[in-house]
Amino acid sequence: AVTGSPNDRAVTAAHDIGLRIVARDGGLGYQVLVGGGLGRTPMIGKVIKDFLPEADLLPYLEAVVSVWNTLGRRDNKYKARIKITVHEHGVAEISRLVEERFALIRPTFSGVDQTLLADIRAQFAPPAFRAAPLVAYDAAYAADPVFRAWADTNLARHKRADHAIVTISLKAHGETPGDATVAQMRLLADLAARFGYDALRISHEQNVILPHVARADLPTLHAALKAQGLATANIGLLSDIIACPGMDYCALATARSIPVAQDLAQHFDALKLEHDIGPLKLKISGCINACGHHHVGHIGILGLDRAGVENYQITLGGDHGTDLALGGRTGPGFSYDEIVPAIERILRCYLALRESREETFLEAFHRLGLAPFKAALYEPLAPAKELIHAAE
Ligand code: SF4
Repeated sequence: AVTGSPNDRAVTAAHDIGLRIVARDGGLGYQVLVGGGLGRTPMIGKVIKDFLPEADLLPYLEAVVSVWNTLGRRDNKYKARIKITVHEHGVAEISRLVEERFALIRPTFSGVDQTLLADIRAQFAPPAFRAAPLVAYDAAYAADPVFRAWADTNLARHKRADHAIVTISLKAHGETPGDATVAQMRLLADLAARFGYDALRISHEQNVILPHVARADLPTLHAALKAQGLATANIGLLSDIIACPGMDYCALATARSIPVAQDLAQHFDALKLEHDIGPLKLKISGCINACGHHHVGHIGILGLDRAGVENYQITLGGDHGTDLALGGRTGPGFSYDEIVPAIERILRCYLALRESREETFLEAFHRLGLAPFKAALYEPLAPAKELIHAAE
């Protein structure tokens, strides 16, 4: 995984190899992490090189893979991952071996194919931006509360003030997270051609991004999205859930995950609490393989099978950002029927204990620790005062 932003949006530390592009002394280079991963043995990647010059990237990565090829476990498919090799040998030893191998490979490396590189660069050339007045955008923002809510939630700042980055939510309340119909996909392609300089991207959070849209076009774009059920204003909120296919599609599943996501989204939409709760990453996996990234959700849900009955474990405090963190288990799991009320108890506890509307769920969790949330989960009648006492 590669990120070029100081805000890691590629979850680099949860990958076999993570690269973070950094600038130093006027040149570009990479911080290199190895040994991250989720699944049944979640591990956070470790830095083996703080700054690797750009020209050394390919031979250095070859050295990493070569060391893993030599030391990696072939006796057990569950352990045949870089994370296990790094864990068993230690990052210092892996780093030493990679440097040794790199010293052998580097002199034989003839450099990157410049023609190929130029071709790739040409594919990512910035579009010819057109200057567009902000009058139409400002008028719609002032007059239409639905447009305003969508703009506040689903737009990010573009490097040009007269453009915006648009995230189109594929998480309409009650729908399957990340799914789009044929009609919706055709519309997305048309809108990318009409308003987005022909660019459309898919995020790892299972949404669609139009990276360049003139603000003047946003009211028309929003109206077109609304007509096809694609204008849900929930990016970064509770119902922007990552859920794996779970038992609905996956042969490995031990529990359903899509229906849990649908129930949660509908429940909190009916309560009208989603915007009040604010930024929240909720992630659901239907088995220990963790394709829904539950380990790094602020709230993670893992569906398991307990004697033929679905049972959902909850983890709290995970973080998929630059400071990657694995969530901690709260305690015994919950049945299918109990999981939505359990998540509501956690979130009502947060609403009762947060210092202000600005304190996010994750910040409150870091300040208070697990205790009050655990009490809210397993002692649902405990009043807020006792929860505060538990936190102290
Ligand atoms: S986490 Fe979900 S998608 Fe991945 S193997 Fe398990 S059930 Fe299937």
